[in-house]
Amino acid sequence: MVKYVFVTGGVLSGLGKGVVTASTGLLLKSIGYSVTAIKIDPYVNVDAGTMNPYMHGEVFVTEDGGETDLDIGHYERFLHQNLSKKHNITTGQIYYSVISKEREGEYLGQCVQIIPHVTNEIKDRIREIARETGVDIVLVEIGGTVGDIESLPFLEAARQMRIEEGYENTLFIHVALSPILSTTGEQKTKPVQHSVQELRRIGIQPDAIVVRSQRDLEDEARRKIALYSNLPIRAVFGNPDVDTIYRVPLILHEKGYTKYIVGKLGLEYKEPKLDKWIEFVERLTKVDKKIKIAMVGKYTKLKDSYISIIEALKHASAWNNVGVQLKWVEATDIEKNIVNVEEALENVDGVIILPGFGKRGTEGKIEAIKVARENKIPLLGICFGMQLMVVEVARNLLGLEKANSRELDPHTPHPVVDLLPSQYYVKHLGGSMRLGSHPIVVEKNTLAYRIYGKEIVYERHRHRYEVNPKYIDKLEKAGLKVSGWSIEGYPEFIEMKNSSSFYFGSQPHPEFKSRPLEPARIYYYFVKYIVENTLNK
Ligand code: GLN
Repeated sequence: MVKYVFVTGGVLSGLGKGVVTASTGLLLKSIGYSVTAIKIDPYVNVDAGTMNPYMHGEVFVTEDGGETDLDIGHYERFLHQNLSKKHNITTGQIYYSVISKEREGEYLGQCVQIIPHVTNEIKDRIREIARETGVDIVLVEIGGTVGDIESLPFLEAARQMRIEEGYENTLFIHVALSPILSTTGEQKTKPVQHSVQELRRIGIQPDAIVVRSQRDLEDEARRKIALYSNLPIRAVFGNPDVDTIYRVPLILHEKGYTKYIVGKLGLEYKEPKLDKWIEFVERLTKVDKKIKIAMVGKYTKLKDSYISIIEALKHASAWNNVGVQLKWVEATDIEKNIVNVEEALENVDGVIILPGFGKRGTEGKIEAIKVARENKIPLLGICFGMQLMVVEVARNLLGLEKANSRELDPHTPHPVVDLLPSQYYVKHLGGSMRLGSHPIVVEKNTLAYRIYGKEIVYERHRHRYEVNPKYIDKLEKAGLKVSGWSIEGYPEFIEMKNSSSFYFGSQPHPEFKSRPLEPARIYYYFVKYIVENTLNK
């Protein structure tokens, strides 16, 4: 019998429910159970792809080309396994499907309602994943905060599943916040109590409460929360702020969390194997030296916009025995002369040109690329960053002053980056980019080959534009080298011939496949290069 673990959230959003869900998965997996995870997002968008990063943080791309919520990224990183786009369920998808079925006559004669039609659709999708993956345990995180109108149908579906699947096969974990009053320093439990009451009002009695707080939960607060939640004290777990999210599973485990939930699910308990994970956390947090990386982008005010890149740098640096300090450089500020690019990049050990869309900030990014290239600062461009590296070379090394990407200047006389032919007739903007995992042919005797050590590699993509093949000869004469190709013959990796520094552009996003115990190779080598060439000099 498959077990379902539902994770709900109370008090406010952004508490780290995704990390608690991912940590729970890691702990169960480390015992030896097979697990998978689903994220439910109650918004009406079909997927996260049409949202600005400022609305919802990064769009995480799955192997099969899903444009999903960033929590799917946390799950993949903690579980060390790929998930498909089906693992991110939204209100948009549910309604889309129910309305299509109604039009097709599937509910002929019936009045189509939230209960049972919408709730059935939700339950069917959750069960389908259980069936398809064949795992022992399915984790289901219900996004939003208990009490929101939007998440009600999902909570109702979860409530029904408890009855249908059996109490012993379902578990509810509620994650809520206990704030600390700055005036008295007191840890307050009322918001947690209220959110549990709200959950019980709709028929869900949680089995465990994870309490987020600045410092660890005091005994008195824990006792109070247990009492008002109708639970034993051992079902309430403090989850204080820590130095790294990767420590969360270890903290929860120390507090008896794993044993408690395994017991509640009626499963056999064994001590989880966490040695490698502990080693990673130690490496990540105990470092003598740090490298400084400039992150040049236009969504720098919300760091979650680039979360997979940040995490990939952490994985890469931990295994290179070094820490990483990020210096955020807002590309639009360079453009407006608020920030002087030479000064901004003066003391950094490396520069990353971040992905993005649209014109704003691009001239700032191009200036940063020029400064990094001319001063031989290790440079890594991801997707849009790679495309702008090509624009920079075309302008400054080829002398094509007005060279540009057609995305930014539709009338440029030198479209060195142009729309992919597969995009010419695209009308609907949702889910229509070149998405997901595609093979890349790596040329021998290149930096790309030294990084990967093989000829065919797979990385995940999310783009509409591409380096224009018509300019490749000219670009290569100017010193650029295309070292990775798509099957259709488009550049996937670029580098500089005979470069005396690290200069690399990647059309795909290797960060989406970076894992704590297996860093993405491009990030790993970027950090390694810096450690060997800058730090140790
Ligand atoms: N805007 C560019 C494109 O569509 C790059 C996209 C990205 O950086 N993900 O090709």
